[in-house]
Amino acid sequence: KKELLKVEGLKQHFPIKGGMLGRTVNHVKAVDGITFEVYEGETVSIVGESGCGKSTTGRAILRLEDPTEGTVQFDGVDITALSNRQMRQKRKDLQIIFQDPYASINPRQTVSGILTEAMAIQNSVPANKRRERVLELLKIVGLNEQQADRYPHEFSGGQRQRIGIARALAVDPKLIICDEAVSALDVSIQAQVLNLLEELQEKFKLTYLFISHDLGVVRHISDRVIVMYLGKIVEIGERNEIFDHPKHPYTKALLSAIPVPDPTHEKQHIPLKGDVPSPIDPPTGCRFHTRCPFAQDKCKEIEPVLHTHESMEVTHQAACHFVEEIEAGELKARDYSI
Ligand code: SF4
Ligand code: MG
Repeated sequence: KKELLKVEGLKQHFPIKGGMLGRTVNHVKAVDGITFEVYEGETVSIVGESGCGKSTTGRAILRLEDPTEGTVQFDGVDITALSNRQMRQKRKDLQIIFQDPYASINPRQTVSGILTEAMAIQNSVPANKRRERVLELLKIVGLNEQQADRYPHEFSGGQRQRIGIARALAVDPKLIICDEAVSALDVSIQAQVLNLLEELQEKFKLTYLFISHDLGVVRHISDRVIVMYLGKIVEIGERNEIFDHPKHPYTKALLSAIPVPDPTHEKQHIPLKGDVPSPIDPPTGCRFHTRCPFAQDKCKEIEPVLHTHESMEVTHQAACHFVEEIEAGELKARDYSI
């Protein structure tokens, strides 16, 4: 397995200005030191409630906002060290698809214009071949040639997302970050777009970083899953490890909220109470301790490290002090509030 993306110690802290002098008085610690890798051809999802740092992670990897700290290696190159000009060229390899493609495309441009512009910016296709490539791309994403000269408002949400996908493909990327890419679509359309993404992955050897709050979608599409809470990774593992054998109380709580496909499957129900605390002053120790039904004194003081516990496969890691005790039933979930 070839490592395509390696994120190491990534932090994204946004300054909060205050007072008459507009000095930085604090920081929103949106992403606070995360490390993971993505292998070629894989789909890795990042899940968590909104405000956990998922989208910020995607944006920092692409350097849409330069990260505060840490490195991002892409195909062996540290892209955090590239100049802005070099980074623009690199964007050919790393593309992003957003939830609302309409917000990121020019409504006064035809589909052909949108795709041609993407090719022109990256010079991925010679000028005299671009029209031909536009028609080919439309076919690849399930639209037809007659639609090339139409405007975005003439398309449905699902079709617009197909245009967004075509635009990403126009530059022959290796990695596509899908940021809530199907979240705004109806369930039946969602399935079609997910199937399309899977087909394209096969065909073009694509790697996906799939950012989503929708665990049903994530279960469908992922090879591996990263669970984030308040800017940190709390659990990471293969899809089935996360969905069938979750170890972190936060992951268990997230999964408690979705229906189980197999009703005979035993599942511990952990309610997720309250909101995500502020990322300006995150809780001490384990950041989940204010909402965790298993929290002990130690949890308030010492930050748990992400690692493989005794009862876990080597591919699976969780950041919780009491994985084994919870697993053995020695700690019972309680109605918890500090
Ligand atoms: Fe809960 Fe403590 Fe584990 Fe954090 S470390 S998830 S508070 S039991
Ligand atoms: Mg796949």
